[in-house]
Amino acid sequence: MFDKSLERENRGPSRRRFLQLAAASALIPLLNLTGRQVRADGLPALEESNPIALGLAYKTTQEAAKSVEGYEEGRKCENCALYTPDNSGCRLFPANSVAPEGWCKAWVPKPS
Ligand code: SF4
Repeated sequence: MFDKSLERENRGPSRRRFLQLAAASALIPLLNLTGRQVRADGLPALEESNPIALGLAYKTTQEAAKSVEGYEEGRKCENCALYTPDNSGCRLFPANSVAPEGWCKAWVPKPS
């Protein structure tokens, strides 16, 4: 009898611990999803020194873009067809964000 009650006592905390671990394990995928969202919203800014950005003469400001041959007034990332406003991204640079006031030689007009 003593052994059975002791066994029951031991089963309680062990069962509780199991349920706690199961609940914590269930949250792990949610934590990973949250991490990805934060990363998608906070893309690192594209540097003008990025080799591909250099090739396209990417500039982060309109003032700097004015000095580049081929630039036309009013053309900027935020009105480019390749710009993704939800994350300030650009389809050419999926791992980075671009400056809305930036510009590069690959600028594409939005369809009208
Ligand atoms: S392709 Fe468009 S959005 Fe991307 S960097 Fe060039 S101008 Fe900006």
